[in-house]
Amino acid sequence: MTDLTETSTEGFAGLGLRQELLEAVSASGYVTPTPIQIQAIPPALAGQDVIGCAQTGTGKTAAFVLPMLHHLADSPERHGDVRGLILVPTRELAQQVERAVGTYGSSLSIEPMLVYGGMPIGAQIRDLKWGCDVLVATPGRLLDHLQRGTVDLSHVEVLVLDEADRMLDMGFIEDVRSIVRRTPKDRQTFLFSATMANRVLSLVHEMMRDPVQVHVGFQTSAEGITEVVHPVDYPNKYGLLAHLLESWGTDGQVIVFTRMKSTAAYVNEFLRGRGVASDDLHGDKAQSDRTKSLERFRQKDIQILVATNVAARGLDIVGVTHVVNFDVPDDPKDYVHRVGRTARGDLTGDAVTLMSTHEILLVKDIEKLMGKRVPRRVVEGFEPSFQDNAGAEDENEAAPVDQPARSRLGRGRRSR
Ligand code: AMP
Repeated sequence: MTDLTETSTEGFAGLGLRQELLEAVSASGYVTPTPIQIQAIPPALAGQDVIGCAQTGTGKTAAFVLPMLHHLADSPERHGDVRGLILVPTRELAQQVERAVGTYGSSLSIEPMLVYGGMPIGAQIRDLKWGCDVLVATPGRLLDHLQRGTVDLSHVEVLVLDEADRMLDMGFIEDVRSIVRRTPKDRQTFLFSATMANRVLSLVHEMMRDPVQVHVGFQTSAEGITEVVHPVDYPNKYGLLAHLLESWGTDGQVIVFTRMKSTAAYVNEFLRGRGVASDDLHGDKAQSDRTKSLERFRQKDIQILVATNVAARGLDIVGVTHVVNFDVPDDPKDYVHRVGRTARGDLTGDAVTLMSTHEILLVKDIEKLMGKRVPRRVVEGFEPSFQDNAGAEDENEAAPVDQPARSRLGRGRRSR
């Protein structure tokens, strides 16, 4: 990834964005556009459809929000019609993208609105009647509004499908198709996805016209992340987690990922029982509670968030110093997304995976996907009863976990 803090006289201005957006970008503290922004913004401003293949943390949200706002600001008299539509897979991502639209669009009087499930529909119907310019929505709830006739997509000029692969994984394909059919054919379409699997390409053929494809990075973790796998017997994972948290101290933010909702709740209870300020985030919790937990974590009222994959994609929380995979994810792509929650922008972070004997093959799949090996390190006092042949050569070099690869004091901006 390009050095995000490198100064440049051209920076965003060289991309052709209007003055109000340049000011908003500068107010956000961005000096240099990221590679995906450099590649995607000019063709998007020229009116072309754009496919962006980018891993998380690359600045892809601004890569589609800025050109959308640039275009919508051309016709302020249309204020109040849904002219920008952004479809995202999860509620959390919807909230985050809506915040970005609000931030970048504030001086252009562009009104964003959020529509997602798990919240009372009545208030959304009322807000939709008032009108907005950019709608950020999850597919299921938006389809519900379309079926009730409470939203009109016939004025959409720019459509974004964000995390298209994830929307397909979550079974939203037919919902997405029905929604896109209700938008004008001559719209501009942007599609962002971490992978360009055949299923995604079939959406591209259906929904886009002569798209320009821009590509950033490989299907791998970002370079600011230090990764390690700790082989451990499953029952000892709780003790090892507590040990690791203690050794890291209390000034960082940690996300602990589990495979199941019940495990997330259980790990959270375990940590709280030890006096750790933690909360859980998973699909069994009411949306309002999920939003509250996330906000408390963002505000640093709690130090640990124990979450299922609900929080794996797209979430952008500055200051997450560690990601712990309490369980190894079944889908290797989820690993890349989970560890991408740390080392956002140009910061650094640690990603730690607790691997029990039945998860050895899952770790191998992850390494195959990323095309690199993740070092194994046995933690003293938590030696596993099984042999991990793939990692055998690392065990001799095992550094005590109390002296992690990078000390907390050294954490911060990536050295260059
Ligand atoms: P995203 O990939 O959209 O989730 O963005 C990842 C992180 O990079 C977010 O914290 C953004 O605020 C940040 N970011 C986006 N564009 C830039 C930029 N040009 N310079 C520095 N940071 C950026």
